[in-house]
Amino acid sequence: MAINLDSVQYVVDLETLSTRKNAAIVSIGCVEFSLKDGILDEYFVNISPKSAKEHGLHIDKSTVQWWADQTQEARDSWMKDPVDLKTGLMGFEQFYQKACPIWGFGADFDIAILESAFYAIDYHKDKVYGEHLPWRFWDVYCLRTLSNVVKMKLEKTGINHNALHDAHAEAELIMKILKS
Ligand SMILES: [Mg+2]
Repeated sequence: MAINLDSVQYVVDLETLSTRKNAAIVSIGCVEFSLKDGILDEYFVNISPKSAKEHGLHIDKSTVQWWADQTQEARDSWMKDPVDLKTGLMGFEQFYQKACPIWGFGADFDIAILESAFYAIDYHKDKVYGEHLPWRFWDVYCLRTLSNVVKMKLEKTGINHNALHDAHAEAELIMKILKS
């Protein structure tokens, strides 16, 4: 079994300006945890929409409109101190420990969009399959699937749609389910 008590695991929550696979990422929240020791570390970075757009990532009018309907706190969360896309992604790459389980809330959302962003910065583009991304495809897990199967709902805490707060809520749910 890939996930055991000692496994260090990661959960990523993205905030984006589109719901396509090549969405412009504006915020990355990631929490490192293990079933044995609980929350271990966190990574949070905001990404400049201009930089994401310059790398060809997608901005969708309807998502921009959706953000206008969210709370000011949620918008402020991703607008503060943005860095360029490459800096934000390389910070994540430093944070993530290779060959560890990596979770997203949605089988084709957070991790799929993060993958597309790594392609957009030409990360390890000449490396062989398996080394062309920070993680290996078989280490990717979906919390939305798991939570629906076991009928345990995500309970958000803190600011809803703050990527780091969301990632913390997701880490708590993963630990709760895997320990149950
Ligand atoms: Mg979120």
